[in-house]
Amino acid sequence: MLLRHTHKDIKERSALTINPAKTCQPVGAMYAALGIHGCLPHSHGSQGCCSYHRSALTRHYKEPVMAATSSFTEGASVFGGQANLLTAIDNIFSIYEPEIIAVHSTCLSETIGDDLNQIIQKARDEGKVPLGKHVFHANTPSYVGSHVTGFANMVKSMVTYFSESGGQKTDMINLISGWVEPSDMREIKRIAKLMKAKAIMFPDTSDVLDSPMTGKYEFYPKGGTTITDLIATGSSKRSIGIGYWATNDAAIALENKCKVRFDVVDIPIGLRATDRFIQQVSKSAEVVIPSEISEERGRLIDLIADMHQYLYGKRVALWGDPDQLIPLVEFLVDIDMKPVYIVSGTPGKYFEQRMSEILSKKVPEAKYKNGQGADMYLMHQWIKNESVDLLLGNTYGKYISRDEKTPYVRMGFPILDRVGHSYFPTVGYMGAIRILEKILGVIMDKQDLESPETRFELVM
Ligand code: SF4
Repeated sequence: MLLRHTHKDIKERSALTINPAKTCQPVGAMYAALGIHGCLPHSHGSQGCCSYHRSALTRHYKEPVMAATSSFTEGASVFGGQANLLTAIDNIFSIYEPEIIAVHSTCLSETIGDDLNQIIQKARDEGKVPLGKHVFHANTPSYVGSHVTGFANMVKSMVTYFSESGGQKTDMINLISGWVEPSDMREIKRIAKLMKAKAIMFPDTSDVLDSPMTGKYEFYPKGGTTITDLIATGSSKRSIGIGYWATNDAAIALENKCKVRFDVVDIPIGLRATDRFIQQVSKSAEVVIPSEISEERGRLIDLIADMHQYLYGKRVALWGDPDQLIPLVEFLVDIDMKPVYIVSGTPGKYFEQRMSEILSKKVPEAKYKNGQGADMYLMHQWIKNESVDLLLGNTYGKYISRDEKTPYVRMGFPILDRVGHSYFPTVGYMGAIRILEKILGVIMDKQDLESPETRFELVM
């Protein structure tokens, strides 16, 4: 919905959401499940839900996303979906031959009250799960939370189902990945390797949703965390959860189940969040920070210093997922930009606390909101009342950008109308350089258009 007129007096809406800044839980559960090697996600609900979740992921990652469905019809909606799921498990193992089926529920099956635990156990008892193969599940009712909640629930279920304590702790650490791009997961692994930290990352969608074209289609690409590694997470000496919303529950579950102590850090987006992540890896894995990492940091600082005059005081509006928004807003404040409007459809009180910590001193005029009522309509209202210099968020900001003629950088999930996000990381110091390159590109493009002399001066 587009706003065609200025709203001077904004009345608080108490119930209605217009253009939500989130999507539904099973999308996140499906994405997380794809981060296990040889796993076929299964949507326990109607075909329409599964088609939507698959298409949301396919359009963002530009890769075919395979998933099965219980294909509910009127009968299943009334009597429950047990028969459908039992048949599905049987068919999936005989036809598609996955190592694992990761079942997630949908609004409909949650409303009916299907007991997935009991149904899956029945499938095992009836011999529908071949020896050495696995079926596990996460409950993902979409009328609470968001796609991030669904991701978190599926990651927690990986721990509940697979992690095993081997008695003795190994010298490995677990990197519990939050919702980031496959390119980001690859970058986090590169950083860990540079630091000589022995790590198991789960889930891991690199080489699954960014796999190369080889001429031969692989139903189960080579990437993804293996079952062996998932089991071994219970013996690791320490875990690092990367992103509070997406990983905190899994980290707690792993400590409770296998006594693996943990720390949860922000996704390493920008300068200070990356500093904290690197320090945490150094501490948890007991490794030193190599000069290559310090040099990458130095290059980022150099770029910030070189281009500071284009960034200083620019007003920014952001929307998306809290785990990304928190370090991103902190980064913008660090480079003297002004993140003035921030919305996230994902609920959770921690959002307000962190935003207040980051913004209250340096950008006291900032408005931020998450959960109920924090939608793109509210964002547009704020922008109508006082404009911004830059929009930073997923695809759904393009209408605001078009209406307000405001420079716009796409970041987050989903990005349906651009490419690159699944290939170029935005985490780590190199990722921060990429974010800056994109921001500076649109800001300087606008200056060029408004003042041809600026372009001339730059060329000179
Ligand atoms: S019915 Fe629920 S699970 Fe299905 S697409 Fe809609 S919000 Fe998602």
